[in-house]
Parts: sequence; C-alpha cells; structure tokens
Amino acid sequence: MRKIIRGGTIVNASGASDADVLIDGETIAGVGRFDGVDAEVIDAAGCFVLPGAIDNHTHMSMPFGGTRSSDDYDTGTQAAAAGGTTCIVDFALQMHPNGLRSSLEEWMGRAEDAAHVDYGFHMAITSADRETIADMGAMVEEGVTSFKVFMAYPNVLMVRDDEFLAVLERSRELGTLVMVHCENGFAIQHLVNTALANGQTDPIHHALTRPETMEAEATGRAIRLAEFAGAPLFVVHVSCRDAAEEIIAARSRGVEAYGETCIQYLFNSIDDLRRPDFAGARYVCSPPLRDAANQPFLWNALRFDHLQSISTDHCPFTDEQKRLGLDDFSKIPNGLAAIQHRLPMMWEHGVREGRLSMTRVVDITSTAIAKMFGLYPRKGVIDVGADADIVVFDPNRRHVFGTDTSFMNVDYDIYEGQELAGSPRVTLSRGTVVFDDGKIVTKPGHGRFVRRSLFDPLAV
Ligand SMILES: [Zn+2]
Repeated sequence: MRKIIRGGTIVNASGASDADVLIDGETIAGVGRFDGVDAEVIDAAGCFVLPGAIDNHTHMSMPFGGTRSSDDYDTGTQAAAAGGTTCIVDFALQMHPNGLRSSLEEWMGRAEDAAHVDYGFHMAITSADRETIADMGAMVEEGVTSFKVFMAYPNVLMVRDDEFLAVLERSRELGTLVMVHCENGFAIQHLVNTALANGQTDPIHHALTRPETMEAEATGRAIRLAEFAGAPLFVVHVSCRDAAEEIIAARSRGVEAYGETCIQYLFNSIDDLRRPDFAGARYVCSPPLRDAANQPFLWNALRFDHLQSISTDHCPFTDEQKRLGLDDFSKIPNGLAAIQHRLPMMWEHGVREGRLSMTRVVDITSTAIAKMFGLYPRKGVIDVGADADIVVFDPNRRHVFGTDTSFMNVDYDIYEGQELAGSPRVTLSRGTVVFDDGKIVTKPGHGRFVRRSLFDPLAV
C-alpha cells in the first residue's frame, strides 16, 4: 500500500520546499504533488516533514559498574521514535578476552526482534592486542565501519596510547572511522582518589574531578595521534570550549577531525549535579556537565560547522541504579536519559529561538550523521530512493516533559515540567508508522540492523 504525506513543508539539510512525499513500500517513490494518486494519506498540513533523525551515540543495555543501562532495544527505540529518531548507531563493546566477532554477535542478539527503528553498531575496542587489530577487518565485512576507543575509565574501557595508535593505523588501512572518548583517564583517577580520601563523596565531585582541561588535553592528544597516523577521527561528546577549540585548530590545519556535542551540554550545567537529595546523580555523565558559560560557544560551533553533529549519549539509569554511588560518587553509573528529547529540544531552542536554521538542525541531527557514518543517501534525506524514515513535526503540538510522556525506562525525566511548543506527531520507519500522536504502534522487531558503508571523507 502506498502512502502520501500531504500538505507539509519538507525540510532537508539542503533546503525547504512545500511538497508531498509519496511512499511505496519501504522507500520514497516521489517528492512533488500527487493529487489523484490512490494511497493512504497522512495529513501534514501546517507541519514540517523531516528526514528521520539519526542518533549515532546511544548505549542500550550497556554494562556499567555492575549494572546495565535501563533501556533495552525495545524501550530505547520506542523513545527514539517518539522523539523523531528513526535510526540509532549503538556501541557494541569488546568484552575482553573475547574477540570482536563474539562481542558483535552478543549485541546483535540483544537488538534482534526488539528494536522499533533501524540500528547499526560501532565496535568499541577495549583491548587492542594483535588479534583484535586483525579482527577489525571482519567488522567491516559485517557492515560495522566505525570503531570507538576510550581514553578514560582506566582498567575498564581505557586503551593506552600505543593501542589507540594501532587502531588508528588499521582504521586508515580499512577506510573506517575511529571515534574517541577524550578524557585523561589516569590523571582523573588521581583526582578521584584524592577527593574520596578527603571525604568528598557527593555527586558534584564527579564533575569537579573531571575538569575541562583533562578533556581538552586528551582531545589534543587524540588529534595528534590521528594526524600522525593519517586517519580521520571523530571526537564524541565534546562538552566544553577548550576541547572544541582543539578540533577547530586541527581542522584549520587540514586534519580530518570531526566532533559532536550532546544535548545535555547545551541544556544542562554543572549546577544540576548540586541538586538536593541525591537527585544530582541523575546528571552524572562523562565528560561531566560543565559551567553554563560554555553553552553559547557550543551553539556557535554547531552553527559554523566547527562541530558537525549532535547526539544524546543516551545511557539511562534509574534512581535505584544511581544509588549504587550514594556514598561514593565514583560508583554512580554514568549516563543520562535523553534519546527522546534531542530533535524537539533542538527545534525549540535552536529553530524557534533563532539560534539555528531549520536546515541546519536537520543537518546536525540527521544528514551530517548519515554522511559521516556510512548511511547516506539511504538515510538522512527525503529524496527518491531513500528509506522512508520520516518525521511529521507539528510546530503546534505542545509537549510537556515528564514520566507520563516519556517512553524511556527511567523513573524521572531530566526536563520534568519543561514545555515545548512543538513536537513530532508521526514518525515512520521504512514506510511503516512507528509513532502516531503519542502512541507506539509497531511491535518490537520492526527495526533492522543496517550495514553501513565505509567512511567517505569527500562526502562529509
Ligand atoms: Zn557514550
């Protein structure tokens, strides 16, 4: 059965126009006027019709500190769809001493028959021995064309610089993209140990022991290693001006360095960690929330393409899980519940408040991500032949944040009580309506694994 999304304004990264979208099966069959065509009609009058947002930074059922993030691929992708996100690229973790293949299979198994929107994986390398480096080629064969390394979390996820360099060298050979979490893990460990020895156990000390300079130092070091290896690099969750400036400097001298920020660094600050009754623990993530003085710089970095995209780093934990760190901030599971909130928050505070154009918001939430992570032009654009991953965004569909409107499996909402003027009304994944006016209407398993192409430096 064909569908027509009628009467809306299509907004691609390249421009906006008033047109209908004709969907045949799973793909877009036409963009134009389709009066008299026999098809099911989705009325988009007064709405913006956007390519589905893509979130390249999520952690579903992620093991952390003896527990797991509380959203699985079912609940997490329901929340994604409700917020206009139609594809996620989640992190599979190398489970030492297993190889990459067995780890990927484990993550594939979790997502299979569970997801409501399409999903891919990056492979996070936590132990880059010879066997692992050799295994990277096998990931490419599986359609996993990006890798992740951590410069933080010593003895858990962190790789040494020699391991990192080996990953970069192999990535250059393969034509893949390396993503990096930039914080100086050992220096931070020292600050954490000192704070705890002084009896400083509250959530705020999570932020105070991970200062901006530790992120900036690691960002500069990561870029220099990538520059030496001749490999492109994507810096995840840039939280502050000093780290962003390392990326800007690298790009200006011709280094293929890219970066994203996350919504929490635009809309939250270190003050959230001071909330009473341990509520500050809800806002514990790494890098930590920063002084709000960084926010205008990050907005401008998005506007001027100093940073290329925005994700969520969605990694939710319930209050009970957060209480693992009640007496020791370093035991609070790291992560925020945010996957549902990105596109609507960027529309409200970006477009409506005049910080970013509509086309730029589409670019940084969808198109640029599709291009950097090998999904374009199948995803990230409304055009003939692309997957019919589409959001009908109603600028007058008011949304009030709270647990009653959240599909995320957490018992609080980080924006509880805040309101938006507009929000997604209908979200389609490959031509199937997933989210319709407040309800998820698909069964788990609609979403499929997507194989991604190799990184194309000239496409981004
Ligand atoms: Zn993350």
